[in-house]
Amino acid sequence: MAVGPSIEDLHFAMEPSVDEIPGPNSQKLLERQQEVDSSAVAYPKRIPIALEEARGATVRDVDGNTFLDFFAGIGVLNVGHSNPYVLEGTQEQLESVAHTIDFPTEARIDLIDKLREIAPGGLAGSSNVVFGGPSGSDAIEGSIKLAKHNTGRHGLLAFEGSYHGTTAGALSLTAGKKYKKGYSPLLADTVHVPYPYPAQDPDTGDAGALCPADDCCMNDGCARALDAVKRKFEAPYGGHSTPAGIWVEPIQGEGGVIVPPKGFLQGLRDIADDNDAMLIVDEIQTGLGRTGEWFATDHFDVTPDAITMAKALGGTGLPIGAMLYHEKFDTWGPGGHVGTFRGNAPAMVGGLRAIEYIESHNLLAHATELGSYLRDRISEVAETTPEIVDVRGKGLFVGVEFEDADGNPDADIVKAIQTHCYENGVLVWSAGRHGNVLRLIPPLVLTHEQAAFGMDVLGEAVRAVTAEAH
Ligand code: PMP
Repeated sequence: MAVGPSIEDLHFAMEPSVDEIPGPNSQKLLERQQEVDSSAVAYPKRIPIALEEARGATVRDVDGNTFLDFFAGIGVLNVGHSNPYVLEGTQEQLESVAHTIDFPTEARIDLIDKLREIAPGGLAGSSNVVFGGPSGSDAIEGSIKLAKHNTGRHGLLAFEGSYHGTTAGALSLTAGKKYKKGYSPLLADTVHVPYPYPAQDPDTGDAGALCPADDCCMNDGCARALDAVKRKFEAPYGGHSTPAGIWVEPIQGEGGVIVPPKGFLQGLRDIADDNDAMLIVDEIQTGLGRTGEWFATDHFDVTPDAITMAKALGGTGLPIGAMLYHEKFDTWGPGGHVGTFRGNAPAMVGGLRAIEYIESHNLLAHATELGSYLRDRISEVAETTPEIVDVRGKGLFVGVEFEDADGNPDADIVKAIQTHCYENGVLVWSAGRHGNVLRLIPPLVLTHEQAAFGMDVLGEAVRAVTAEAH
């Protein structure tokens, strides 16, 4: 028997309905926000609505407009907004005990057991889980400490295009200069090397010579990236102290939904092994079913030393971050990694129930199938739209890259498409090093009907916006 309602029954509607937007009630709240909230507020600048309620893959604003949500709180609401099966458990837990630091509760131990069961590769069954602060950035901070503690080194290696968070350690790993400007220096000896970018890498035919992997997949960008990583570890004049670990998104999210070639993660695994460094895979955006597997690492058949999680881990958007690592690295003593909010029991029940809901409704297969459908629909539009230079992703993690007529990244097109979609009831977000990638990360509970409607709106938006440019 399936747990909770079917995915068809989770939403306000299968289609959006928008009247005037932003409506008068949204306007009022947006104005009040403008007066008192921080000038760091960003999302309503592009999508000016004030939220009232949300269900499944639909959100309703304070004027009664209903939208289809194709970004799920940036990859948080994998089982949809307010999933009743998840809510029931989190509410019961909230009423019994909510704040538990690291005392054992059934919620905590059951979630750890489940994560150990679904962990990628050889981490399944032989891993430990540590909770710290509630965000993804906190999980990354924990991973930096774990790598330093286990290797006795302090250098860090990450990739161009990466996003790992905004606390000082995580921000050191994040590549986006706009997030770092004014805050340097951050952690010493942090280096960034190229991440393979199949849509952009020129083919120079020297892949085999550069790639350290035995079964090179002959992608030049991948080979050059692996060569750069290897040199940071092994070249005597590499310029930095040998890194404690390699931090990598298995599919880059903020960087533009970039799927690396098949051998990339294995190449990193080999370099980490050869140099006694840790391979830390950041699954904060890609984890818990997003890409049609529990973790994006599963697509690459590699066992990392540790994975970081947050976002969808709280089930209904309750904050919780965690790191799962191989038990051989469990070398710190009591208090080795702490945080007041490391025992948010309702979030733990939320995470467990979200995983159960995904299992029970076969949402990994659904994400795979629906993701292909979305990519097919966009690829049809791309046939007559030269501005679309790449359609990519795995499962319900979809990126569409845009360039202008001169071949330059075009963020304005993406913004205009986003606005057009919003005006027609579909919420989409962007990504990419130049903001020129449209990113679709809908809840995994999105139905076929909703997907079809969303793609109709997106197709029209692309046609309308590019027609203006032609
Ligand atoms: N890593 C990745 C891959 C992310 O996508 C994000 C958030 N976008 C983070 C880390 C940071 O998570 P948080 O915002 O919860 O600190």
